[in-house]
Amino acid sequence: MNTKNKFNLYFSQYKSLFGNEIYKKTINKSSDIKNRIQLIKDDDIIQYKNSICLCKKCNLEKTRKNFVFGSGNSNADLFFVGEAPGEEEDSIGEPFVGRAGKLLDKILKAINTNRSEVYITNVLKCRPPNNRDPLLSEVNQCEPYLINQISIIKPKIIVALGRVAGRTLLKIETSLNEMREKTYEYNGIPMRVTYHPSALLRNPNLKKAAWEDFQWIRDFLQI
Ligand code: URA
Repeated sequence: MNTKNKFNLYFSQYKSLFGNEIYKKTINKSSDIKNRIQLIKDDDIIQYKNSICLCKKCNLEKTRKNFVFGSGNSNADLFFVGEAPGEEEDSIGEPFVGRAGKLLDKILKAINTNRSEVYITNVLKCRPPNNRDPLLSEVNQCEPYLINQISIIKPKIIVALGRVAGRTLLKIETSLNEMREKTYEYNGIPMRVTYHPSALLRNPNLKKAAWEDFQWIRDFLQI
């Protein structure tokens, strides 16, 4: 039985024993706490964004149009980390808004969730010229931002999208296939690695394995 069903069973038994009045109060109290946590996290994440969005720590600030902080639900259980903003993300200031983002939206729908439920960001917050791979120095300067985002949001699981995100977070130099299907920890939070949606667009043969990864994530979160 998943958590939601257990919760519903608990409250229906509670209701039959103690009646509607206490049942209503109990429900309101738990949703009140959830709403308050959400408000605190919303506030913290906005304040954090405002405190770093003029970053000039590396040369990417000279070529970026926008600092792409990240977006989604500040109380998300599921936290995605991509590589770096591409051209469209740089123009708009939001992560995963191009073709890869559209595919990610479809994948989220297939695992019973959507963008307003999850949080999405990248290893780098600024676009590398011509979408080149992030430099180690850029990653090192930018990673504290990711660590702080994660510590505000406190997701139940982090999913690295692609080789660059996987290698950066795990600090290892292996292939994507080696990193898949294992559960790691990133600063105390479970973490998995799967294909970047752009890789799935380039090579649709990878979709079957990616679907297995996302089914695992769905089952882990019981959504
Ligand atoms: N690819 C990424 O890794 N991140 C984005 O935001 C868009 C494309």
